[in-house]
Amino acid sequence: MDAWKKELGVAFLLLLGVSLVGGITGLFIPLLFLLSISLLIWQVVQISRFERWISNGGRGKYPKAKGIWEDIYYHVYLIKKSEKKRKKKLGKIIDQFRKSTDALPDAAVVLGKEDEIEWANTAAKNVLGLQSSDRGQRIPNLIRFPVFVRYLKSGLFNESIIMPSPTNSNITLTVKIVSYGAGLRLLLAQDITQLRKMEQMRKDFVANVSHELRTPLTVLKGYLETLQELDGPLSPLLTHSFQQMQEQSERMQYLIDDLLLLSNLETQPKKTHCVDIPALLGKICKESENINNSVGRIELTLETNAHIYGDEQELRSAFSNLVGNALKYSPKESPVQVRWHQSQQNLVLDIVDEGEGISDTEIPRITERFYRIDVKRAHKVAGTGLGLAIIKHVLLRHDALLVVTSELYKGSTFSCCFPVERKC
Ligand code: ADP
Repeated sequence: MDAWKKELGVAFLLLLGVSLVGGITGLFIPLLFLLSISLLIWQVVQISRFERWISNGGRGKYPKAKGIWEDIYYHVYLIKKSEKKRKKKLGKIIDQFRKSTDALPDAAVVLGKEDEIEWANTAAKNVLGLQSSDRGQRIPNLIRFPVFVRYLKSGLFNESIIMPSPTNSNITLTVKIVSYGAGLRLLLAQDITQLRKMEQMRKDFVANVSHELRTPLTVLKGYLETLQELDGPLSPLLTHSFQQMQEQSERMQYLIDDLLLLSNLETQPKKTHCVDIPALLGKICKESENINNSVGRIELTLETNAHIYGDEQELRSAFSNLVGNALKYSPKESPVQVRWHQSQQNLVLDIVDEGEGISDTEIPRITERFYRIDVKRAHKVAGTGLGLAIIKHVLLRHDALLVVTSELYKGSTFSCCFPVERKC
């Protein structure tokens, strides 16, 4: 502001001088014209100096100037200085970020809009085999596993994929892509070889133990039956003991059978063919009514005659478990509805009971292995807590989902939703 006042003051003095001299000499107009031209030329010279300085990057100290121009130079100089400071700070942050991501054990790669590599950390070089010279190359040209290329193309990055490392096929990686910014994506790859090995060991252990327990249990059960058939009356204590032993050995048999079934589901490939679901449901409903002493309780509604691709044995096991549960966990006289129908995107099997129901907090837990709801039931219901874990696994192997809706003391609906693409 002061500079402006000074500048205007100088202009006013010059104008006053010209007026005085012009008044004395009678040459006011030519002198005014001369003054205006001189001021204009001076300003043009200042602008050109400024332009030269700024086009050279405004580096270093600014040139000497007078009046308002000194102020302009000074302000631009200050802006430049603070920008330089900010750049330095930003550079430091980027440097720190690079150092920390380089120290990460997981591979991280920044991908551009065309899937080109913009940046990769050190682990990406070791685990994914990427080189510094690969910058700018499209990643599907370097990592060609079909599962990876399909994942990248799909744009559906909610899930991660599992694939071998391109540098060492003995290393298993889980790969996840996260979208951020304008079309940028961060690819993260983690080595899960040890985790997979442990998972395999767990599966083998369960399979072996369940298998090995079968023979001793059969022997024990055999002897129990023989002992009970011995001639002569048994003392009440022995009768009670035999009954308990019989019940517990049966429970153990169910547990072993369910564990073996689960480990088979985890390890065996499924035998897929076109399964006649209406016929299968008809058989399951009849058998379940007989086994559970519930003849006449099941209402089977077949709204579609759809067959689906799947493993009949596995589907039979899952469906009869669900129907069995509906009968088990509801009053003896209450009806159970079994409904096979088609919605827009799914083929759905609904199993509806009017039983004790499940609270909202328990619903997410009931498919966990060995999870049983501890309600004070009027009658104790036998079970292993593995049924729904088996069902969930079977459905997963058929690209299907288990949806549970329930209201306490009113009843539950278990829905198996198969994608319509499974129709055959
Ligand atoms: P199990 O029936 O052998 O206990 P499941 O895995 O089949 O094992 O079921 C887990 C638990 O979920 C059961 O213990 C039961 O409490 C609950 N549950 C399953 N089905 C129903 C149902 N239709 N109504 C109410 N509760 C149920």
